[in-house]
Formats: sequence, structure tokens, C-alpha cells
Amino acid sequence: MRDGVDPATWLIAGGRNRAPGEPLNVAPQLASNFYLPADRDYSRAKGTATTEAFETLLGGLEGGRALAFASGMGAAAAVLNRLAVGDTLVMPLDPYHGVKGLAEEAEAQGRWNVVRLDLADTEAWIEAASVADLLWLETPANPLMTVADLPAICGAPRKDGAIVAVDSTFGTSFCQRPLDLGADIVMHSATKFIGGHSDLLAGLLVTTDDGLYDELHTRRLLHGASIGAMEAFLAIRGARTMSLRMERAQANAMELAQRLEASDDVATVRYPGLETHPTHANAAKFMTGWGAMISFETVGSAERAAAICERIEIINHATSLGGIESTMERRAAVAGQEDIPPTLIRLSVGCEDIEDLSDDLANAFAATRDL
Ligand SMILES: *Cc1c(COP(=O)(O)O)cnc(C)c1O
Repeated sequence: MRDGVDPATWLIAGGRNRAPGEPLNVAPQLASNFYLPADRDYSRAKGTATTEAFETLLGGLEGGRALAFASGMGAAAAVLNRLAVGDTLVMPLDPYHGVKGLAEEAEAQGRWNVVRLDLADTEAWIEAASVADLLWLETPANPLMTVADLPAICGAPRKDGAIVAVDSTFGTSFCQRPLDLGADIVMHSATKFIGGHSDLLAGLLVTTDDGLYDELHTRRLLHGASIGAMEAFLAIRGARTMSLRMERAQANAMELAQRLEASDDVATVRYPGLETHPTHANAAKFMTGWGAMISFETVGSAERAAAICERIEIINHATSLGGIESTMERRAAVAGQEDIPPTLIRLSVGCEDIEDLSDDLANAFAATRDL
């Protein structure tokens, strides 16, 4: 295909075998091994036609070479476990809890030096770039939606051989392009907005560096974190409509964020698109959309926030995010997240009608005012 097509077009047109007699969609190739001699002998090492189509599609979208994993954590672990004994990992104060867990374990065993920084403290990140072996960023971050100044941090002078990796799951390829800003690796939990239907687990790493690609490819096969063909098939199907879903979900999210901000039932709203968001200025520097994730703190007790999550009828009371269906949960109820403000609700905005979403929340607020 010619270069330079719009990302929305690429997601629909890319990753296909355009040859007479081939199906339009690469079928799920359910295989562990293949007749020899062949380049592709075993799928943990070499993937399948389906996983390769998924990698072509998402690599093209993100602007590099993609490696698909069995989950977002499979992808994250491949990057983190490159670190050698004595290496320094610089990461956010409160990264995704799986990443936090890997770092805490390696730190407790004396394997890595772990430096934790506030994502909003750009100067500290710039300074840390000269001592870090791996700068691990997550932006916008879970669950406070803090946005790091990616252009400044990715462009900071680094120690020789240092790698900058960005967990771009909340931002998606439609809102930010970390590789263009100087990051070495972009990571996605494709379980979320890429798959988009809450029916699969998948992860992705994308890089423009061939040496790094080879290393991460080896880590994937050693860790046994390769994606299955059915997951790759479903993830492709989800990704085909991603631009439509993101467009709708982001428009809904902006409108809902504004309505929540104006509501007497809500104390604080955190959404990168709101000018009141503490790191809105960072977001405005490089994001081309504000994403579909909102968090807000309700007025009243934690019990009330929990009751609101149980009263909703259209939004789904569930963890995870990025689906065509809206989901929400009280984050402090999640194991390991007890230090999150007790009434904070994280809302992944889907593609339902905005008035229905808004009414659903308003009804749940009204029904719980005595708590
Ligand atoms: C879900 C998530 C992950 C982990 O992905 P899995 O697919 O659940 O393994 C990592 N980072 C962020 C920001 C996530 O939301």
C-alpha cells in the first residue's frame, strides 16, 4: 500500500493478503508447528500468519516494527526484564500495578535500583535520564490521568544505551505517537482500546530499532509470552473499527467530563482535556486527542461511591477499560490500590449515546444522596 494514508484508512486496509483467492481477512491459523523445511517452524518463536497480520497492522499504525504478546504484562515484562543486575529503572510513583509488582520484586531481591518519580515533575525526569538504564513512562497514567511532558523527557540527554519506553495504553495511537517524540519502545495493553470489546488479552511492543526488536523477540520466546492466533484474529477485528470507536468515545468523554465537573455530586474530575486538569498543559503540547478515560471523586462517603457503581444500569460495573461498552469501578476497592482517594471512580467511556450515559450517572447519583 502507498505510504502516508490516514491511520483510520490504514487500520481498515492494512494487514490483508491482497491476492486472488485469498480471503479478505487473514484467518485464524491454529498451529503450533509447521512442515519442514520452512522459515516458520514453531509458533512460539515465529508466530502464525494471523499474529503476523496483527503485527503488520499495529506496527504500521504506530510507526515501527511490532511484536504481539499474550497480554500487556507479557509485553511490559519483556522490556523490564532486559535490565541487568545493578541497572537503574526510573518509573512513575504509581505505575500500572503489574509493572509496580515486577519492580518491587526485583528491588527486594537486590537486582535493580528503582527510582520513583512524580510524572508531573518534568525536571526530575530530565535529570534522571542521565543515570537511568530504563526510563519507564506511563501516560496518561492510571488512575489520576497525569500526563507526562513526553517531548521534554524523551528528548533529554541520556546515559549511553539508556532506553525510554512508554506505556501508551490510555493514550492510544490516535492521541499520541511516542516514537516520533524520541521514545525507543511503545507498549500497549491491546486488551483495552485496540481489542476494544472486552473479549481478549493481548499486548504489543513497537520499536524502530532493529537491534532492540531482535532482543525483545528473543525475550518473548524465552518467556513464552507469544499471542495465540484466535486472540490476534479478534484483535485485528477490533482494531479495524478503532478510529470510529475512539472518535465517539472521546467526544462522549469530553462531554461527560464537563457535565461531571458541573455536577454537585462530584468533587473533582480528572480528564486531560479539561483546562482544570493539573497536567493539561503537558497534554496540550503533544496529544492530538484526550482519550476516553476519566476519573472523578464523588461527594460523600466511600460507601456512596461504591453504591453508585452498583446502581448504574448502562455503564458496566467492571474493572478494565477500553471497550466499546463503558465500564467503571471504585479504584480503592482494587487490591494494591488502597492509597487511591476512597471515592475515586475510574470511568472508561464507551460508544453509547451520551444522554443515556449521562442519565445513568445522574440516576445513580440521585439514588445514593443519603449515603
Ligand atoms: C491493562 C494495563 C496493562 C496490563 O495489560 P494486560 O493486557 O492486562 O496484561 C498495562 N498498563 C496499563 C496502563 C493497563 O491499563
